[in-house]
Amino acid sequence: MSAYKFIDHKFDVVVVGAGGSGLRAALGCAQAGLRTACVTKVFPTRSHTVAAQGGISASLGNMGHDDWRWHMYDTVKGSDWLGDQDAIEYLTRNAPAAVYELEHWGVPFSRTEEGKIYQRAFGGMTKNYGEAPIQRTCAAADRTGHAMLHTMYGKSLSHSVEFFIEYFALDLIMEHGECRGVTAWKLDDGTLHRFQAQRVILATGGYGRAYFSATSAHTCTGDGNAMVLRAGLPLQDMEFVQFHPTGIYGAGCLITEGARGEGGYLTNSEGERFMERYAPTVKDLAPRDMVSRAMTIEIREGRGVGPNKDHIFLHLDHLDPKILHERLPGISETAKVFSGVDVTKAPIPVLPTVHYNMGGIQTNFHGEVVVKDGDNVDKVVPGLMAVGEAACVSVHGANRLGSNSLIDLVVFGRAVGLRCAEALKPGATQPELKSDAVVSHIARFDRLRHAAGPRSTASLRLEMQKAMQEDAAVFRTGESLESGVKRIQAVHDARKDIGVTDRGLIWNSDLMETLEFDNLIGQAAVTVNGALNRTESRGAHAREDFPDRNDETWMKHTLASFDDATGKVTIDYRPVHSYTMTNEIDYIPPKARVY
Ligand SMILES: Cc1cc2nc3c(=O)[nH]c(=O)nc-3n(C[C@H](O)[C@H](O)[C@H](O)COP(=O)(O)OP(=O)(O)OC[C@H]3O[C@@H](n4cnc5c(N)ncnc54)[C@H](O)[C@@H]3O)c2cc1C
Repeated sequence: MSAYKFIDHKFDVVVVGAGGSGLRAALGCAQAGLRTACVTKVFPTRSHTVAAQGGISASLGNMGHDDWRWHMYDTVKGSDWLGDQDAIEYLTRNAPAAVYELEHWGVPFSRTEEGKIYQRAFGGMTKNYGEAPIQRTCAAADRTGHAMLHTMYGKSLSHSVEFFIEYFALDLIMEHGECRGVTAWKLDDGTLHRFQAQRVILATGGYGRAYFSATSAHTCTGDGNAMVLRAGLPLQDMEFVQFHPTGIYGAGCLITEGARGEGGYLTNSEGERFMERYAPTVKDLAPRDMVSRAMTIEIREGRGVGPNKDHIFLHLDHLDPKILHERLPGISETAKVFSGVDVTKAPIPVLPTVHYNMGGIQTNFHGEVVVKDGDNVDKVVPGLMAVGEAACVSVHGANRLGSNSLIDLVVFGRAVGLRCAEALKPGATQPELKSDAVVSHIARFDRLRHAAGPRSTASLRLEMQKAMQEDAAVFRTGESLESGVKRIQAVHDARKDIGVTDRGLIWNSDLMETLEFDNLIGQAAVTVNGALNRTESRGAHAREDFPDRNDETWMKHTLASFDDATGKVTIDYRPVHSYTMTNEIDYIPPKARVY
């Protein structure tokens, strides 16, 4: 074990992750003159952000009057009042400037006749505090994430961000509660690296792959979340997992909500546009949690389509083929490849599919990681920040609105850069790391590399994914969740039987997948335990045994910690911020969430 040698690096800032949030954060730090490294396990433009289709929300008002306050209201309501309103105010106020910044950097947005940025309708986005749907989602056809990621990667290179590509980050270097750096394994030559920095910024994305069917890339394994759990810090609100209504039946690939924004609609086996019954005002453009539940109910009540009556149809076949070609070219191709459907002629078979994690690493709206310390519920953890889907600021609360993630990436990515510029001195001296700071990192890496048990990583991963899919689904009950807790604990305990066949260090995908599985299992445990613990229904967390939202008891964030050795989950809480950021806008008090 002592044979492992580290190659050392020293930076002002190390960003882990090169998706939309990581690139925006790295860019801001580099612009501020800080020597910035960006460590990423995949090539930057292959990060999951590249797959984002429908668009990025901001109240530009290009398609009729809009107001950031309406965007704020929609986001608070969409979050089912679990979002922190100071952070939501920060997000929605700063959204237009963040989109114009992207435009000036060269993101090729689709255009209106007058040459303005084109905006489409998205779920839960309304005008005048819920009166009617509004077009607020800025789009580059249905390849918005692709356009953003490529633009920001080019921009970061021009600002001398130093990229460490195909480096797999292992663990946080923590000393006395402070984060001092991160370790990583270089996949193509097998060397190990120690990155020391004044700040480590986790931008590692979501953990959709804890589930069997997800729209997320296979690389979405929440590695940063897992590092935080291993550092003894809790994750926030992990029971809130978003199912996107329109994953392609069987394949799970996403058909953007923008398809319904452009006029698409859902039907059941009776040909009925059933969303009219569930959300009379906004219909097919209700928020995702509601549409996913409505679809699940239709299927359960025997009105699903197909030979097994187990899915729903999404119609685009009534739309002008020219519009489909211009605005939805990507999903037209996806539908053809993955379901054999020509969208101009036939409906697409769809099913709710895991899509986004509202929960993650608890931060304030500057991106600083915070923990509860006695009466101080928002104590900053020195040296550690988080941004993007990995973070829980919390602006999405119990349910994220479509197109609010891409804007979260760039608004809070920018905020992180501003905070670092304010707090750090370029080139400031950093004390040497303690020699034993990474002993546990090596021990874990070496244990998994030499694991010689009878169970393959793939079989354990599948067992975990099936348990999550079946027991922590769109609808949950105490019974299903108790079963989920037991099944995840059993997979956790079976880790001792894991076997890795490749002992090498170069391009060892067997070991990499094992590290990722090991990262996922802790997140699966906090998700399912958090869901069992929360005895109410709110946003994406729909308990059939507790169908109502209970503000008296549950207007609070879950903070879940994980003991890696035993698999035990410990739960604590912190209050939802019941205040806004400035005095210019009042706190929006909770009310029934109807559309
Ligand atoms: C198919 C799809 C479509 C979507 N469409 C939209 C949309 O239209 N609008 C919208 O607002 N949202 C959309 N979303 C959600 C949104 O795209 C994501 O939430 C967002 O892109 C996540 O960005 P991120 O920067 O947090 O992480 P990601 O883009 O997932 O990037 C994670 C980064 O972390 C790195 N990383 C992870 N682990 C490690 C490790 N161990 N070591 C080193 N590096 C690591 C990866 O290499 C990668 O660079 C969509 C999501 C999906 C899946």
